Amino acid sequence: MQNISDKVVVITGASSGLGAETARHLVKAGAKVVLGARRLDRLEALATELGLPKEAAFKVDVTDREQVKALVDHAVKLHGRIDVMINNAGLMPLAPLEMLRFDEWDQCIDVNIKGVLWGIAAALPYFKAQKSGQFINVSSVAGHTISVGGAIYSASKYSVRVISEALRKEVKPYNIRTTVLSPGAVDTELPASVGAPGVNTAIADYYKNNAIPADSFARCVLFAMSQPENIDINEILFRPTVQE
Ligand code: NDP
Repeated sequence: MQNISDKVVVITGASSGLGAETARHLVKAGAKVVLGARRLDRLEALATELGLPKEAAFKVDVTDREQVKALVDHAVKLHGRIDVMINNAGLMPLAPLEMLRFDEWDQCIDVNIKGVLWGIAAALPYFKAQKSGQFINVSSVAGHTISVGGAIYSASKYSVRVISEALRKEVKPYNIRTTVLSPGAVDTELPASVGAPGVNTAIADYYKNNAIPADSFARCVLFAMSQPENIDINEILFRPTVQE
């Protein structure tokens, strides 16, 4: 497929949900993917499913800058370059601020914001040297709207959009593309990251009744990647038709 075949793509959060489904679509379209997340067993199972070498699975905690750099360096060592960095790893600890779930606040900022920053930091030097590359950063409908219980999560996902837009303007001289994908409710393991009592059951119910399949996201990735090099798809916002 144009602009996908033989592209080297690093995906964080590839052990489940959107990341795993995107890897499936990309491999089918001829890309060379490197899978990152903490659960190495899940990554290795996916690599096997996709007929990839064991080295395609790489254990990484995106809150650790050095580990994210090691993931990207590993991909370049394996394939000689990196064409696309998908900063997808994330969690959604929805809860009203008054619940004071401090550990979740920290975790959400560390994974959803700093994890994306470390991914940018790791891939950018390669993209600059190559004078080509594409960032695909994952925001959310919650990066466009704010609901009760969504302060920290929305703050993290608005941040992804802010960082991405600044990045887009900065990296123009290097021919680097910057894409933000903002999904609504998609059927993945994400509701399991809601820990607050009451909120978790409500979110699980909502997803059960309304979420759309993960291939909706994967097709957006392929669409953004497959454009001619001089076309930069900056943002795609999508959601289930029934979602507010
Ligand atoms: P999942 O829970 O299925 O996947 C989340 C992924 O993030 C897992 O692979 C998990 O891997 C990884 N992850 C979490 N913490 C870390 C960490 N510290 N280091 C490395 N990897 C980590 O959810 P989704 O696939 O839905 O989520 C993917 C992205 O999509 C997230 O950024 C989410 O906010 C966003 N999104 C999802 C929506 C949805 O409805 N599904 C809607 C809007 C946005 P592991 O635990 O193995 O490390």
